[in-house]
Amino acid sequence: MISHDLKIYNTLTRQTELFEPLHKGHVGMYVCGPTVYSNAHLGNARTFMSFDILFRYLTHLGYKVRYVRNITDAGHLESDADEGEDKISKKAKLEQLEPMEIVQRYTIDFHNMMQLFNALPPSIEPTATGHIIEQIEMTKKIIANGYAYEANGSVYFDVEKFAAQHNYTALTGRNLEDLMNGTRELGGQDEKRGRLDFALWIKANPEHIMRWPSPWGEGFPGWHLECSAMSSKYLGDQFDIHGGGMDLAPTHHTNEIAQNIACSHKTPARYWIHTNMLTVNGQKMSKSLGNSFLPHELFTGNHPLLEKGYSPMTVRFFVLQAHYRSTLDFSNEALQAAEKGFARLMNAMKLLDGLKTSATSTTNIQALKDKVYAAMNDDLNTPIALSHLFEGVRVINSVSDGKETLTELDKALLIQLMRTFVFDVLGLKEENAVNTDKIDGLMSMILNVRNEAKAKKDFATSDLIREKLKEIGFEIKDGKEGTTYTLSN
Ligand code: AMP
Ligand code: ZN
Repeated sequence: MISHDLKIYNTLTRQTELFEPLHKGHVGMYVCGPTVYSNAHLGNARTFMSFDILFRYLTHLGYKVRYVRNITDAGHLESDADEGEDKISKKAKLEQLEPMEIVQRYTIDFHNMMQLFNALPPSIEPTATGHIIEQIEMTKKIIANGYAYEANGSVYFDVEKFAAQHNYTALTGRNLEDLMNGTRELGGQDEKRGRLDFALWIKANPEHIMRWPSPWGEGFPGWHLECSAMSSKYLGDQFDIHGGGMDLAPTHHTNEIAQNIACSHKTPARYWIHTNMLTVNGQKMSKSLGNSFLPHELFTGNHPLLEKGYSPMTVRFFVLQAHYRSTLDFSNEALQAAEKGFARLMNAMKLLDGLKTSATSTTNIQALKDKVYAAMNDDLNTPIALSHLFEGVRVINSVSDGKETLTELDKALLIQLMRTFVFDVLGLKEENAVNTDKIDGLMSMILNVRNEAKAKKDFATSDLIREKLKEIGFEIKDGKEGTTYTLSN
């Protein structure tokens, strides 16, 4: 273990707490995954990238992490109040496809997107439809424990009864009465006993296509239930971390906690971690508001809000520049700045191996390393960690220019620090890696021609080559060890 003092903000206690896993050396983490009825947008991607960084950092600290992130392929209705159609069924009808064709298409799309953003796959990726039996069993248990009731083929969670014995709003700290007053009154036809009650199992009307047999007739599970059933199946009744976007805390996660307590008398996760939203002009990016970008629109620049295309690593760098609990506002300027910053970082990474060493160091690399860890341990403060890594970039460039020095030992420490954090923890990677060998080959050929010109004292040609390369974006530098190049922006 490298460091034990990771502190993380826990929505449940509203405090930044020292992270201590239930079982030494192991971490169980559940993150609510996507509903696969349409292409995931950049906002969704931000949330999943944030948890990817947590997964990577915990792994780096030496924990054996079991990371479960589900795929919602049934039960997610259009409205949180158990109303509207199932999002996947609706899309299937619209496109005249089987619901599972929709699920397959958008699951593949989601995986492709996550791969482009260099997010590691979770350890287990369970689906709601693959766990209908577990959800029925959980519903039976909650009924048996007295916290749910059947009404006309559906099963509802009795929130008022639960709230009389437990703190139903523990996660958000909201006042129950205010919540009640803010919720629509039940109509005469309503099967629910209380206005905060939510469905565990929903009776399928004749035209509903996604349906399964149950003790209460043919139906389908409520959305909140799948996460309770799958998290406890793979991580136990109690586990370490539960995460998702901030918008999930008031309803989805609040109801998940209630279900798990009603079933096993235990609060499922100890640390509840919520990521803030990606916004566009201050408004949450969402499909329904029409302000969302799909990854391919972002990469090609083919969107009215985009001035040009940005690469996946530029976007990942942009995400890292904000703390996960702050909103991150999209803008062309911010992405252009991220593009420059990322290129500067990658150029420095290329110089690392070739840095000359000296008898003394002008910078304290160990202190720099401590600062990077301190930032990450402070509730995963990636913007601060990045700013320290950029101090590393400054040192690399200065040593490369001969303005500062590093000992052999410090050079090794700097290489290890930069590679570990930039590549392994923050998950950035060299782009166009397949082409770099070819570019290197081409550049070495051009530089040889230039050197021959110089040897013949044909400085007009050698200067022309330098100038032309500069125009394209290649900066060349003549040093004692020969000529090197960097890609400028
Ligand atoms: P969904 O597929 O709608 O269930 O959403 C998947 C995840 O993306 C959830 O954790 C949401 O909280 C999150 N999410 C949705 N919109 C945004 C946004 N604009 N910024 C960040 N995360 C978001
Ligand atoms: Zn969930």
